[in-house]
Amino acid sequence: GRAIHLKSRPQGEPTAANFELVETTIPEPAEGQILVCNLFMSVDPYMRGRMNDVKSYVPPFQVGQPLDGGVVGQVVHSKALGFEEGDFVSGPGGWREYHVAPANQYMKVDPGVGSLSAYLGVLGMPGMTAYVGLLDLGKPQAGETVFVSGAAGAVGGLVGQIAKLKGCRVVGSAGSAEKVKHLREELGFDDAFNYKDGPVAQALERTCPEGIDVYFDNVGGEHLEASIGKMKNYGRIVLCGAISQYNATAPAPGPRNLMLAVARRLTLQGFIVSDERHQERRPDFLRDVGGWLREKKVKEVETVVEGLDKAPEAFIGLLRGHNTGKMVVKLASP
Ligand code: NDP
Repeated sequence: GRAIHLKSRPQGEPTAANFELVETTIPEPAEGQILVCNLFMSVDPYMRGRMNDVKSYVPPFQVGQPLDGGVVGQVVHSKALGFEEGDFVSGPGGWREYHVAPANQYMKVDPGVGSLSAYLGVLGMPGMTAYVGLLDLGKPQAGETVFVSGAAGAVGGLVGQIAKLKGCRVVGSAGSAEKVKHLREELGFDDAFNYKDGPVAQALERTCPEGIDVYFDNVGGEHLEASIGKMKNYGRIVLCGAISQYNATAPAPGPRNLMLAVARRLTLQGFIVSDERHQERRPDFLRDVGGWLREKKVKEVETVVEGLDKAPEAFIGLLRGHNTGKMVVKLASP
């Protein structure tokens, strides 16, 4: 098998030189473990944070060690009860072709609901992020205006689609004219704009003239400040991510208009989807989003890059907006 190691820690934007492709031996599972052949691996924005040597809610990656992340794979060899050769599973062990781990780190997945890679996207961690963040924190009501940034990405695309299903007026921002067209024509957004075309505040003036009830923030920075400026009284801001700042080498200034949170009685709430408190929602998430997928009320959108050697490129591309929907790397066929 092969694996991608972190060769050096990126300064600012990651480059190919920060990664190294390494030949490895395929490990044997011990009692209670399974050997998994990875079919699809995920690249996610949070991995950029783990490449820095700082304490956060997940420990940093180590230089000279394989990177890690979510995968969908197939069991090759099982020494664990309840798992058999050929089973499809999702779990850890990304950035390598094979992985051995205790079976309790894996979940069996049903290949009948969506595509296998959907378990890295709409039916996986980003999907759960959209579901919990929008419904439990944003609490959108029918008729309200929901604005989501990073709208053509994995999380943002589902946030917008769920908000539409809940009867909201939905506006999204993304980084190209093609993505804006995708939001309007494929995902059913009521309006959308390219944030690279001009100031976000002006675009919100045009697209949300009556104000915003729920802002789902994937981006931070200018988007956050401009949204605060357009929030209605008692509006909710869901702080999901701040990708405009992940490559920053010095802290960015905060929103200069935060005082408006007082005047407009806003709620700003951050969350981390893997927290214990959100896990009781997993069955609801799988039932609802799985159902919407089957009924074709929600679209599964992904950008697929082929081959482990292309994984660094996929990750670097993700931070540059090369993806529409979930960015995944295909490593093997079932
Ligand atoms: P996406 O699929 O949205 O991919 C990242 C996108 O970010 C790119 O496609 C790009 O799109 C956009 N982007 C990059 N740089 C900028 C910038 N400077 N300004 C605006 N947009 C930019 O990734 P995910 O859906 O996986 O993640 C979306 C957000 O959700 C991230 O902030 C992530 O950290 C966060 N997240 C948080 C979780 C939690 O538990 N709180 C869990 C999972 C994700 P474009 O072309 O539009 O610029």
